Amino acid sequence: MVTAWADGDGWLSVDTQEWIDERGEYSEHLTDDLREWMDEQDHRYPTAEVLTLWAKDRTGTAPVGLYGDGTCWEHNTCTVNNVLSDEIGFVVFSAGGELGDLMITISGDGGLFHSPTVYRSTVDDLAEWADYDCADGVCANGHEWQVTFGWLLHSETTTGFDRPSVTGQARVPDDDRERAYIACPDCGHALQFTA
Ligand SMILES: [Zn+2]
Repeated sequence: MVTAWADGDGWLSVDTQEWIDERGEYSEHLTDDLREWMDEQDHRYPTAEVLTLWAKDRTGTAPVGLYGDGTCWEHNTCTVNNVLSDEIGFVVFSAGGELGDLMITISGDGGLFHSPTVYRSTVDDLAEWADYDCADGVCANGHEWQVTFGWLLHSETTTGFDRPSVTGQARVPDDDRERAYIACPDCGHALQFTA
């Protein structure tokens, strides 16, 4: 999705729920279990520490993080450096036992922690959850551009520091925001993105 206000003023985003659904499967059972456990244990906020305690309580072992060490991997999308359309926090860890690899969203309202929602990770490599700031774009002429850090455009032909940005390439034809697109830096045609 492209949101743009004017030429040179726009950004790229992907539907957060679709992005999550491509990587994990919602577990009603685990979500209910976690929320009930938090009530019983009197934990008000689902901080990463609390989520780790829950996993440990359920499996008997401490979970491990994204790269096979640490307790969990946390990310909050309340920054410009991502392509997700909603502000959420999420925690990813490998809980072992019956729980397996989990991703848990822990916010949805300006970074306030509430309503933890548990997803079973369906990706082979948990590091794919760290892929929240990339998208691949291609134009009608086959020029390929990648978005990194949510806003920087680069291709195999770009060199040096003078790199185009998503914002700079935003175009709004006839002031019609419905038709907004990100222009290919090579030829000006619209880039089509996948995240
Ligand atoms: Zn092009």
